[in-house]
Amino acid sequence: MTSSPLAHKSTTAPAPLQVLIVGEDPRRSPLEKHLSQISRWALSWHWQPRGIPIESADLLILFSPQAAIQPWLDPIAAYGLPTIAITAAPLPEPLGLVRIPPEELSPFSLELAFRAILQEKSLGAPFSNGDTARPWISTHLLQTHLQLTTILVKFSQALLRPQSTLDMALGILGRHLQMERITILQWHWDQTGKIGAPPSILEQWSHDGSPPCRKKVADFPLPWWQALLDLGEVTAIADRADHPELKEPLEFLDVKAFLGLPMCDNQGNHWGQLIFTGQHPRPQAWSALELQTLKMAAELLHHYLMRTATQRELESSEALYAGIITHSAEAIFLVRVQPPSDSAHGSESLSEFIFEMVNPTYCDKMGVYPRQIIGKSPQAAFPEHLAQQLCDSFQGCLEIGETLLFEEVLNLPDSTQIWRTCLIPIRDRQGHIQQIQGSARDVTEERQLELTKMRYNRHQHMLASLTLKILRSWDMNKMLSTTVQELRKTLQADRVIFWEMLNGEVGEVTAEAACPDVSSMLHQRFPAEAFNRGDFDLFRQGELQTCIDVEAAKFPPAHDAMLREHGVIAYAVLPVLVSALDDLEGEPHLKGLICVQQCHFPQVWSADELHLLRQLINQICIALNQAELIQRQRHYTEELARSNQELEQFAYVASHDLQEPLQLVANYAQLLVRRNGDRLDDRSQRYLHHITTGTHKMQEQIQDLLRYSRLNTRQNPLEKVSMAACLHQAIANIKLKLKRAQVQLHYPAILPEVLGDASQLQSLWQNLLSNAIKYRGDRQPEITISATQTAHHWQFKVQDNGIGIDPQHQQRIFQIFQRLHTQEEYPGTGIGLAICQRIVKIHGGEIWVESQPGQGAAFYFTLPITTIPDKP
Ligand code: ADP
Repeated sequence: MTSSPLAHKSTTAPAPLQVLIVGEDPRRSPLEKHLSQISRWALSWHWQPRGIPIESADLLILFSPQAAIQPWLDPIAAYGLPTIAITAAPLPEPLGLVRIPPEELSPFSLELAFRAILQEKSLGAPFSNGDTARPWISTHLLQTHLQLTTILVKFSQALLRPQSTLDMALGILGRHLQMERITILQWHWDQTGKIGAPPSILEQWSHDGSPPCRKKVADFPLPWWQALLDLGEVTAIADRADHPELKEPLEFLDVKAFLGLPMCDNQGNHWGQLIFTGQHPRPQAWSALELQTLKMAAELLHHYLMRTATQRELESSEALYAGIITHSAEAIFLVRVQPPSDSAHGSESLSEFIFEMVNPTYCDKMGVYPRQIIGKSPQAAFPEHLAQQLCDSFQGCLEIGETLLFEEVLNLPDSTQIWRTCLIPIRDRQGHIQQIQGSARDVTEERQLELTKMRYNRHQHMLASLTLKILRSWDMNKMLSTTVQELRKTLQADRVIFWEMLNGEVGEVTAEAACPDVSSMLHQRFPAEAFNRGDFDLFRQGELQTCIDVEAAKFPPAHDAMLREHGVIAYAVLPVLVSALDDLEGEPHLKGLICVQQCHFPQVWSADELHLLRQLINQICIALNQAELIQRQRHYTEELARSNQELEQFAYVASHDLQEPLQLVANYAQLLVRRNGDRLDDRSQRYLHHITTGTHKMQEQIQDLLRYSRLNTRQNPLEKVSMAACLHQAIANIKLKLKRAQVQLHYPAILPEVLGDASQLQSLWQNLLSNAIKYRGDRQPEITISATQTAHHWQFKVQDNGIGIDPQHQQRIFQIFQRLHTQEEYPGTGIGLAICQRIVKIHGGEIWVESQPGQGAAFYFTLPITTIPDKP
């Protein structure tokens, strides 16, 4: 042994330190283990139970935790080897030993003792006496060192012990250093590396338990902190009298001794300061050993603070997550993946899944308590079908190896739910999936709402299209057959029939839509009993009846027999009510029943299906009523048209056929006058005159009647006609009449064009003008024609200044053969205005008169304004 062990450290292969152990057997004692944990030096030790062959030893350990050490003291003193005594007994003063009480024996205390003895450079010069061959240790220093080491150990133990506080740990340091206060500060640096803001006070300890004087520290001006820091890494002021430049700040703090030790983070950044303050000056300055130890304490403290901060963060984030998981509305769970236990099964065997964590929502939803599920597999916790479903999804996540997001329908014990589930595989360092974390949201209501909405839309669509379809035809049978077909499609029914009541007792199926695999009921007759007679009162009030499951219901035998015969399992029956034809205002009667039938499964009729059916009944009943009405109206119109046509035909034929014999009478009467006129006496001549004028009048009347009936029997297609042209032609036809009567005629240069029959419109003008001339009074006749435009019509007016018409006759004059005067007063047939009215009606207009007797008459007629195509 030629040099200190420290010298060996710098060589590439240091010789191991020879340690001789005397005293008790260190093997199977903690000492052996602790020695093996010392990694700072290469050690070689051996135990010498008796005697001390010291030649090859660098260091001696007296291991005597139980026994007395007295016998060993002399040999140790004689050889002067650096010695660590592990003993409970006190050591005699002059002996240069480092003692470790047995209860404080640890790798750490052992290493510190080694360091003290082996005079590490960092511990400073006082340990060395210059003899590098065999270093020796001053008892005082060793004791101080050991004391410090012990303090450090106690301090670190206090920091580690969960039951002790930071205050307790600081107390260990404070009491040892006999300082009144210890403060832990955290710096806040600015960008230039100077103190930017007052430091935060993390903890303060005081020797007498007095309350911390945080305010003083908080009010301490920043430049003073800076000045203290600028003194060096460690600010050690044993007596403020030695530092007049710091008098002011130290007086402010009311301290005489001040020790500031840096606390640095892992990157060496000056994070904070551990400050010891005392109200009395220290007798001597802090030794390097003390400072070194306290720096270690500051370092430990920093680690502790960091660790506790991290731990606090961790705890609060754990608490946060626990809170989220506990109170989450989502079901959250964690399963452990257990690979197949028997590898012999190969790829066919599946992993097992064990629930490790579930939140209350998961338990609620699944209807279990946590204890029934934690640590169990799905098979052990849930019914088979559910367990299988869960395992399949977990297995799927395993196979895909990625996050799996899907929707599933779960048949839980109490309900069926739709879940939106997310499974996330959690892998270990080797990439094997160890766990699966799952979360699931119950989307049943959302989906049901969507489904209901979709179904509702489908039903509304069906209702709209059905309404359109049934409205398209006015044939009741067609409407009913469309209804049953559409209903079957929309409600996905097996069979829909319409049972039509023939009389109060019996009915017949007159419309049917059925699946190919169910029997047909079409044209079958059933008595009312077959439909549960008791329901008929409700049917008559428009109520529908449903049955979810025929098997479970108890029906009267006839009804039951009908249902069974046709394999009906569930049904909905809708009454069809229509008003009686001869009493449309009265109570509607039951026309029949629409029966929606399911023949394979029972069916619960949903609220919106029933709503649809109710709406449908209303629609059908309205449509059927309308159809009845329209059919009736059509029938009447057709009847009327037919009888009119027959009448016109008759008028035409009659007037046509009458002309000939009448002409014959007229001819013979004329012949008689011409041949024998002078031989006849006056009376006979008067009679003959009556015959000729009578036949002449009759001929006129027949001509007019023919003209009138031709208006209906011979109609030309309507075309674009100029009302002005028609008027001009009419004026030309009666030119002579106008001249003779010296009529003043006023009419506009422009008149509208209309869609019509030119010859008819011309006769319209001619009739009105002729009447205006014929029924003139004593004044010179004046006729004014005008035309105005209303919303949909042209309105024409023929105003005269003639004799006028009493308002009470103003309707009558438009009827055929209605006259207000005798032939003698004013000749005529009484058919002219009837023809005018017919012409105007044919053209889609109206005709009327406004007049007072003696004040002239104003005849009005309207014709529709239409877009008129040009003649090709
Ligand atoms: P007729 O002129 O052949 O009698 P009309 O049908 O043309 O038959 O007229 C019916 C009746 O209306 C006439 O008998 C007459 O009393 C009355 N009338 C028609 N036009 C006028 C008129 N412009 N002024 C007064 N009375 C009229």
